[in-house]
Amino acid sequence: MAPTAKTEGLLLRCVDFGESDRIVHLLTPDRGRLTAMAKSARKSMKRFPGTLDLANHLEIELSHPRRGAMPYLERGRLLSPFLGLRALPARYALACYLIELLDRLAPEGGADSDMRELFDFSLGALGAVEQSRPDVKLRVLLELRALDALGLRPELRHCVRCGAQPRPSLPVGFHVGEGGVMCGPCGKRVEGLLPIHLGTLRALEQGLRLDIGRLDRLALSSQALAEADLLVARFHRFHVGLELRSEEFLREVLHPVG
Ligand SMILES: [Zn+2]
Repeated sequence: MAPTAKTEGLLLRCVDFGESDRIVHLLTPDRGRLTAMAKSARKSMKRFPGTLDLANHLEIELSHPRRGAMPYLERGRLLSPFLGLRALPARYALACYLIELLDRLAPEGGADSDMRELFDFSLGALGAVEQSRPDVKLRVLLELRALDALGLRPELRHCVRCGAQPRPSLPVGFHVGEGGVMCGPCGKRVEGLLPIHLGTLRALEQGLRLDIGRLDRLALSSQALAEADLLVARFHRFHVGLELRSEEFLREVLHPVG
């Protein structure tokens, strides 16, 4: 039997496979996202005592049967189940949404420090959702933070074409494909820019800096929230492609305003 490696994992997805196995997607602090086979997971309460649930933070043991083959998840020990997520439908829906986003976009492998940061972000975000009464503002800000942690931070301050800081007196647009704000002169002949106020961009920058547990304290006018919602939604869709499975459920249970 190959030697096992111990690490931590956040459970992103779990699907039954064959008669008794499960395939799990895990976010780890050292290898990014990985897929592993949990042999006999539906039978063995000893190796997986109620641990293979979505959003569980686990200590895991992996073994590698052959080079290049899918690793086996040998054991999982529960570190945190984020039980508070299951207390409100909106919390659970927002957590599922963030987890699905991570499952789609988290890289398999990468620089160690980036993977650790992404892992820590993910635990921090679930911890924040666990304490919250989720609304659209929290969803928009956490989604922006998740995209940032995934290396997809939109440029909110400098024009993506010329590098200038847009002046307050001129209209500003956001170019989804180029991933950032475009100043008035550069955006003149560009089609499909999302109009956006500088105040909204500044608020989103603040949202990127704030302690993740305090995002609900950020003030956003209803106009800024509508602009931010559209910007993040389009930016997300550009990178993810299809609608996430959890989007509809989230829309149904989330309060429209804070
Ligand atoms: Zn410009």
